[in-house]
Amino acid sequence: MSRSSVLHKARLEPEQQDTGTTRFKVFTQRDLGKIAQLQRLPEQIRFDMQVVSSVLPFRVNTYVIEQLIDWSRVPEDPIYQLTFPQRDMLEPAMFERMATAIREQWPRERVQKLAAELRAELNPHPAGQLQMNIPVDDSGAPLTGLQHKYRETVLFFPSQGQTCHSYCTFCFRWAQFVGDKSLRMASTEAHRLQDYLVQHPEVSDLLITGGDPMVMKTKYLVEYLEPLLQPRFDHIQTIRIGTKALSFWPQRFVSDADADDLIGLLARLVRAGKHVAIMAHYNHCRATSVLISRQWL
Ligand code: SF4
Repeated sequence: MSRSSVLHKARLEPEQQDTGTTRFKVFTQRDLGKIAQLQRLPEQIRFDMQVVSSVLPFRVNTYVIEQLIDWSRVPEDPIYQLTFPQRDMLEPAMFERMATAIREQWPRERVQKLAAELRAELNPHPAGQLQMNIPVDDSGAPLTGLQHKYRETVLFFPSQGQTCHSYCTFCFRWAQFVGDKSLRMASTEAHRLQDYLVQHPEVSDLLITGGDPMVMKTKYLVEYLEPLLQPRFDHIQTIRIGTKALSFWPQRFVSDADADDLIGLLARLVRAGKHVAIMAHYNHCRATSVLISRQWL
């Protein structure tokens, strides 16, 4: 089976079908005025969106805008609801504080200060993620970007993967995306991950998570994962990759510039006996465009 043949386009009319060669382009809060489809919505909805996205992160790509959202059904459209900020995402009092700042056109620094205060009130790490289950090295220093929550499983948060192709309005990891390093779990240090895994033969599963690790260039995934083919990592049997790319940027697996390299990497891991598990995140049945399996690799 070829890769392009598993790109399902059932929802689209033939003339609308994606060619699989779309270039990745995202819009964030400062680009809200550039999304043509939004300009047709009532001014109140657009204002609410501006207020909420001043506190909570917003990011959407062209594939979601052009092919997943049915704009004739907005605001009820489910993919729109799952992607674009809405008033009820903030408590009324919190919403009003930021709305006042926007209406009165406060200077940028003052708005950012208010946003930081409101985020702190939202309890960005309700389960104590920044303190709990963080392993330490031989000197007792915390291994930032790792979590060892279950005996057999280590979570790794690569810094290049701490964003997503498009953000969900319900995201429980939003603190990773607001540009505040004090709120973020992330590591660029592949060798610290590897050293830790070597010292912990009880670990059989590595979960690469984010954000979305599939936003990373393949060269970074190679840097983190290829060393696991060495015999000293034989105890790492399962490599789990948590991703929403299958449904919100399927081009990652078929037509991105390094898509072939990505599939090659996954294939090498599988052929070496690793169980590569794509922990696919699906928000809605409308966004189910690509199927991928080990057999295919
Ligand atoms: S895919 Fe996960 S981490 Fe990314 S925005 Fe959605 S819920 Fe958050």
